[in-house]
Amino acid sequence: MQKERVVIIGSGPAGLSAALYTARANLNPLLIAGPQFGGQVALTHEIENYPGFPGGSGTDLIETMRGQAERFGTRIEMDVVLSVDFSTGSPFTVRTGNNAYLADAVIVTSGASPRLLNVPGEAELTGRGVSYCGTCDGFFFRGKKIVVVGGGDSAVKEALFLTKFATHIDVIHRRDTLRAEAELQKRAFAHEKINFVWDTVVERIEGDGRVERVQLRNLKSGQVYTHPTEGVFIFVGHEPNNSLFKGVLTMDEHGYVITDKHMMTNIEGVFAAGEIQDPIWKQVATSVGQGAAAAIATEEWLSKFEAKKAAEAAAAGA
Ligand code: NAP
Repeated sequence: MQKERVVIIGSGPAGLSAALYTARANLNPLLIAGPQFGGQVALTHEIENYPGFPGGSGTDLIETMRGQAERFGTRIEMDVVLSVDFSTGSPFTVRTGNNAYLADAVIVTSGASPRLLNVPGEAELTGRGVSYCGTCDGFFFRGKKIVVVGGGDSAVKEALFLTKFATHIDVIHRRDTLRAEAELQKRAFAHEKINFVWDTVVERIEGDGRVERVQLRNLKSGQVYTHPTEGVFIFVGHEPNNSLFKGVLTMDEHGYVITDKHMMTNIEGVFAAGEIQDPIWKQVATSVGQGAAAAIATEEWLSKFEAKKAAEAAAAGA
């Protein structure tokens, strides 16, 4: 097995920030990128609220972060972690499709993925008019009428982005107020292509091989009706990417990994940062901060751990 001092699982802002900090601490980190390099940010068409980055695509930001982390010695493997064994204590085993690593410390930054609506027709029509990513799929909806589901930052931001392609967008939201930040709300309310359908949920998505309509229910009046549409973009929150760590790392009732003030999980030497352990903030800026904190904590923990091991070895040899 390949011996490493620090393995970072995930390549979003938290992972790349942890990589930069551990690289600059001379820990020669290995970052295993996961299925989507850059995580959710890489699929974001525009980032406007990350300080020092006045505006640009998520890919631009991620590539800048990657270059900075690599400049100080981070090694990046474009691979996916398939299993971990943290039961032995440090060193920990991390297995990917191509390799197995023995890591003195691990920083988990596996992020989160879009939550499903879980209505009939959603799974069957995913990729056939149902989408979870405007940046990826918006182009296919040029000249079409679509719906966006949700009322948070993602829904409103993506609706605004999708106005570049669609002729009309109905944003279907289950309440009559948005959760999205005020600036996004202001832009969406002012946009001629965007209409809000309040107090309404999508009950079914229908179509013959492609999305043709949705069945909606107004939660206040109880009225159920069919709404024709060619696209359904779903932005109803995220779920932490925790499948590798179930039964291994302690999680809250929503599946977020619990860390202490030093970003350490219930396993000594295993740290977590970013959306895998953040049920609240979920911003690029906060994930970057958490990644930096986890890296600093890892460096401090490793130096104590290595000093203890050296002392034990010296005592055994004496
Ligand atoms: P979110 O803030 O949790 O919002 C999810 C939205 O979906 C809410 O409006 C929610 O309704 C609705 N919803 C949840 N489950 C639903 C269901 N089963 N059926 C119908 N509607 C449902 O999620 P998000 O928008 O993905 O944002 C996640 C985090 O990332 C947030 O912290 C957000 O601030 C951050 N983010 C920030 C930006 C930015 O540019 N600043 C961009 C994207 C995301 P209710 O409102 O009724 O709960």
